[in-house]
Amino acid sequence: MRVAIAGAGLAGLSCAKYLVDAGHTPIVLERRDVLGGKIAAWKDADGDWYETGLHIFFGAYPNMLQLFKELDIEDRLQWKEHTMIFNQPDQPGTYSRFDFPDLPAPINGVIAILGNNDMLTWPEKIKFGIGLIPAMIKGQKYVEAMDQYSWSEWMKKQNIPPRVEKEVFIAMSKALNFIDPNEISSTILLTALNRFLQEKNGSKMAFLDGSPTERLCDPLVEYITARGGEVRLNAPLKEILLNEDGSVKAFLLRGMDGAPDEVFTADCYVSAMPVDPLKVMLPHFWKQMDFFKKLDGLEGVPVINLHLWFDRKLTDIDHLLFSRSPLLSVYADMSNTCKEYANSDRSMLELVLAPARNWISKSDEEIIAATMAELEKLFPQHFTGDNPTQLLKSHVVKTPRSVYKATPGRQACRPDQKTPIKNFYLAGDYTMQQYLGSMEGAVLSGKLAASVIAQDSLLDAVNSSSDYNTTARKVQMV
Ligand SMILES: Cc1cc2nc3c(=O)[nH]c(=O)nc-3n(C[C@H](O)[C@H](O)[C@H](O)COP(=O)(O)OP(=O)(O)OC[C@H]3O[C@@H](n4cnc5c(N)ncnc54)[C@H](O)[C@@H]3O)c2cc1C
Repeated sequence: MRVAIAGAGLAGLSCAKYLVDAGHTPIVLERRDVLGGKIAAWKDADGDWYETGLHIFFGAYPNMLQLFKELDIEDRLQWKEHTMIFNQPDQPGTYSRFDFPDLPAPINGVIAILGNNDMLTWPEKIKFGIGLIPAMIKGQKYVEAMDQYSWSEWMKKQNIPPRVEKEVFIAMSKALNFIDPNEISSTILLTALNRFLQEKNGSKMAFLDGSPTERLCDPLVEYITARGGEVRLNAPLKEILLNEDGSVKAFLLRGMDGAPDEVFTADCYVSAMPVDPLKVMLPHFWKQMDFFKKLDGLEGVPVINLHLWFDRKLTDIDHLLFSRSPLLSVYADMSNTCKEYANSDRSMLELVLAPARNWISKSDEEIIAATMAELEKLFPQHFTGDNPTQLLKSHVVKTPRSVYKATPGRQACRPDQKTPIKNFYLAGDYTMQQYLGSMEGAVLSGKLAASVIAQDSLLDAVNSSSDYNTTARKVQMV
């Protein structure tokens, strides 16, 4: 089958990859002139890369790791020491670590938590451990049911001292969904904690060895095109055209630079766009359906990614850092963590600013000034004295609507990859899969969409053929 896929983020590219594996011909249609969506990156005039987001790959990402294996690019993941490092705002310039020993889960996680005495006291650790017991015993069913509570509400319900939230979970919820614990659904943190505690290497982190567009999207495109698929940039979906029965007749693509619009037909159609543009583009007839109506409950959350190039080294830490700053979320010195960005003389900090609600409309200059003021608090030793660190250059990338805002109740709004429309499917990190709004979730959603398309095509083949041999051949191909 020819399958038209709108969106060349990880979900669209993964869907296309698994469709070519199943013998189909995907054509990916991307609005922008760059691959990757939320993992897109650009090279500036000096040849330096800047990215939509600082991206971390976790040991608990089975579908992503499988994809790297299938593309034969596993060596591009740079695995870091199994630890989590937090800044200590009360003691500027110092760090606190949760070190995971090389032991089976959950023992390694328990030792990591018990071994950290900087951030939590023993009574706090014990109360937190007791509070987590239902999630560990009852598993995912309990975790899903807790979607009715914010993390702050859940912690209160479990009698966990508020200081645990302040010390650890403001940083964690900002890292996971760019919002604070009083907003984030407890399902998000419980899902992450369950994975981190139940899988030995679940919380182990890797950085890609270069820009995500070149090092991950390009090999995906090569794989897809080598097997008969196609990926077109500058091909924005403008409208979904319908047949009389409500199924998709064609994708109408907006003509670029004065070119006329193009009617693009295929055997079936996938939206791998984020939920926000999809909602705008839903045909009137579909909007009445409960399946599509519930998308109204999903909306992308704003986030800002900053890149700051300095005239000297600020850290030698080769890892992700949780800033624990009110303005910032996680950051990393990419001159240490990423092979292609390596520099032994100068630091390049990549930082995520979240929550970004009050910052997204501010100028780059205001955002950089506020970030520099925050860095001066984190690293006073570099910014004071006779020869303070100089900022050489910067890039700010704003994403006004990034991953869906995972507030309580959102799980019920997330749609399946299979829709009530017979030739229309969904892929995207917001669609229902167990990895929430993440790269792993995007890859898995694309894989699931490809799998239902292949199944439906198999059923069609069986239904439309009375000849046993033809059907058997089609089944084999699928
Ligand atoms: C700052 C930041 C940091 C992050 N950090 C991490 C992390 O550390 N770990 C992690 O796992 N995840 C992280 N994420 C989340 C991760 O990037 C996303 O979950 C994932 O990349 C989403 O992929 P997607 O394919 O579902 O959507 P997208 O990447 O948004 O792709 C959708 C594509 O559709 C295209 N499109 C939109 N409209 C149209 C149209 N009309 N026609 C055609 N195409 C269209 C878009 O241009 C885009 O290319 C981060 C995200 C951000 C923003």
